[in-house]
Amino acid sequence: TTQRAYNFSAGPAVLPVSVLEQVRDEMMCLPGSRCSLLEMSHRDKVFIDILHDAENTVRSLMGISDDYAVLFLQGGAALQFSMIPANLLAGSGKSAAYIQTGVWGKKAIAEAKKEGDVNVVYDAAESNFNHVPGSGDYSVSDDSAYLYFCNNETIQGVQFQDEPACPAGVPLVCDASSDFMHKPVDINKYGLMYACAQKNAGPAGVTVVVIRRDLLDRGSKTLPGYLQYKNHADADSEWNTPPTFAIWVLGKVARWLQDDIGGLEAIEKLNRQKSSLLYDAIDQSGGFYTGHAKPDCRSLMNVTFTLPNDDLQAAFIAEAAANDLVALKGHRSVGGIRASVYNAMPLEGAKALAQLMNDFASKNA
Ligand code: PMP
Repeated sequence: TTQRAYNFSAGPAVLPVSVLEQVRDEMMCLPGSRCSLLEMSHRDKVFIDILHDAENTVRSLMGISDDYAVLFLQGGAALQFSMIPANLLAGSGKSAAYIQTGVWGKKAIAEAKKEGDVNVVYDAAESNFNHVPGSGDYSVSDDSAYLYFCNNETIQGVQFQDEPACPAGVPLVCDASSDFMHKPVDINKYGLMYACAQKNAGPAGVTVVVIRRDLLDRGSKTLPGYLQYKNHADADSEWNTPPTFAIWVLGKVARWLQDDIGGLEAIEKLNRQKSSLLYDAIDQSGGFYTGHAKPDCRSLMNVTFTLPNDDLQAAFIAEAAANDLVALKGHRSVGGIRASVYNAMPLEGAKALAQLMNDFASKNA
């Protein structure tokens, strides 16, 4: 069948239908260019315009000033686990502070330790990563190289509601891979924010790095060229061939957010509506569904919960699939159900899933 389902995949994930339609329509020949974007030089003016448009749309959506560089890189979010400490920690004589609230923070810490001294200032592992710390729950030394956190832990479904407390002068570094551009953010509070695109911003293949320009000079000149942020900033993301297709689609998703949705305040409202439908279904199930995240740290993007036993869980997934609701199985490390309701998930998809949750609970409780 070529019938599309509501796709709750954690990533790569749902994209706006209008973006997919544009990509389809322009695939054989980019209007006026006599070839497709896939076949075009990254130095072609048409592509440079596409790159600038993607950058400028992201800048305007997020209110990013020229004090920051916006880079389009490869290597996924995982390469940032290493590039961040390689540029901002190695050789600094300092220690970097990390907050660990889930699997992705844990992986980032493991990579950072290869580059320098790491201080895990808060670790939520003992409570099975079901919450994020409050500002009084940890402390960060004033001379830390930076404070690192993951805003939304995709696997556990726990999300910071606000930036974690961070001493003035210590750059705040954020993995926003699974909630990039899901609501307005004051980027001036950050030294660096990065996100792989394949969850909330586009297809796999490109990672956006927003970095305050004064941090660009911290990377040692002996780093491999690709790993130095400054090279990419100086070359406007054309230090080598950038992932042209992924940037093209990311630019279209950003334009959709701006023009069709109406910006980040509008998408936040929609995201709150969608996730509330699912959290309400959990809370009103009389204990049939158990949410993983503590209520004050619930993610607007990844709704994680369990059913009373494995058989019911399997039956739920099967019934959902029969109703065109797919990719709901939780990550293998935590089990249960994970419904990812990223920006591009339509309200109708969340409504259909909430309805199924309510029906399934009344039938099986
Ligand atoms: N950070 C977060 C929050 C993620 O959800 C992911 C997703 N896979 C990653 C990092 C790693 O991304 P990638 O596979 O692009 O390296």
